Amino acid sequence: MTNTTNHIWHPFTQMQLADAPIHISHGKDALLFDTDGNEYIDAISSWWVNIHGHANEAIAKAIAEQALQLEQVIFAGFIHTPAIQLSERIIQLLNNHFSKVFFSDNGSTAVEVAVKMALQYWHNKGVTGKTKILALENGYHGDTFGAMSVGGRSAFNAPFENHLFETIYIPTPTADNIDDCLKMIADAAKTGTVAGFIFEPLIQGSGGMIMYEPEHLEAMIREAKSHDIICIADEVMTGFGRTGKLFAIDYIDTKPDIICLSKGLTGGFMPMGLTVCTEDIYNAFLSDDRKKTLFHGHSYTANPLACAAALASIKLVNHDRKSDIIAIKLSHANFIHEIKDHPAIKDVRHRGTILAIEFKTPEDTSYFNSFRDRAYKYYISRGVLLRPLGNVVYIMPPYCITIEQLDKVYSVLKQSLTDLTTHTAQ
Ligand code: PMP
Repeated sequence: MTNTTNHIWHPFTQMQLADAPIHISHGKDALLFDTDGNEYIDAISSWWVNIHGHANEAIAKAIAEQALQLEQVIFAGFIHTPAIQLSERIIQLLNNHFSKVFFSDNGSTAVEVAVKMALQYWHNKGVTGKTKILALENGYHGDTFGAMSVGGRSAFNAPFENHLFETIYIPTPTADNIDDCLKMIADAAKTGTVAGFIFEPLIQGSGGMIMYEPEHLEAMIREAKSHDIICIADEVMTGFGRTGKLFAIDYIDTKPDIICLSKGLTGGFMPMGLTVCTEDIYNAFLSDDRKKTLFHGHSYTANPLACAAALASIKLVNHDRKSDIIAIKLSHANFIHEIKDHPAIKDVRHRGTILAIEFKTPEDTSYFNSFRDRAYKYYISRGVLLRPLGNVVYIMPPYCITIEQLDKVYSVLKQSLTDLTTHTAQ
């Protein structure tokens, strides 16, 4: 079989510089197998989605059974059992704080819908001027225009800068700057222009696995809510156990008004995004006036196969994976203890199943740090799929990863601390 692709344009890839992609023939649990017979431990759950690893039988079976029943139906004017069950399950998992689930196809669209809900909420209520969104610096919320607009400004969205709407940024909170962050929220609110506040709770993923404390998240949400700012938690990455609890907002008492879910939702089997909101948000769209409708929808909204996959995946997270998540969390903590004083490390960060190591490099910390390409090749040639964000190497394994597989990932990572910083190995 060939590795060359004549007609495919890969995501986030400079095609002129890219090596031939690895042709994967199949996967099982935490392993991926290529057509040349090599195997790789998928230590990043294939862009953070495959929380149960690959080819999980329970999810595959649920999709197959659903496919023989109903594969798709228009979701305006029609409803189906998998969507009813999934919406009920999601609301229940979120402790009934929210009341409505809006379906879309991926993380970016879940965010687009959330931002539209926040902006239109004020529009529908006849409040003029609340047109801006507050967001965290270094945030990443997706690649569609609204999601880019509320993400941190970077080389990713620079070509589109003139087309992005204005967003007010505040820094990622720390013990040192939290008072300033709260003041910035209050000052922004005083202008009367802020409709909503979007954030990745506790971990800013694509920005470099930047982590912050629940108490600071809680303080920011409380401040924003005290000024009638709609709070949107983008849990596209953190949802479904990643942070050690089912959702990152389970670490705090003051809940947001809207939460975005995707990635782990279907265990990596089907694309799906959910925007879940409170009764108050929903009520602002109820009217005799059809112009107050949320005019948003996608062809595959609430696809029954995706709903069936999500229901099966949630069942696994809730019943079978709790102890696996705790084991990974403890195992990461032990590994950190072992390596934390290594001179090649600038910083180590850890929450739940996510471990990030920031390497000391001659270049500044950045996605474009040249360390990235060397490191990616180093790990893949040793049978481990790790996809560093510049000089930040992180592990975000499927919950089914075995102790032996995790130990192999640690051992390759540990060796790389020496090999990749002394430039002796490739
Ligand atoms: N929000 C967050 C926090 C994300 O990490 C991502 C993807 N990395 C997105 C939104 C966008 O999700 P998608 O790639 O499914 O559009």
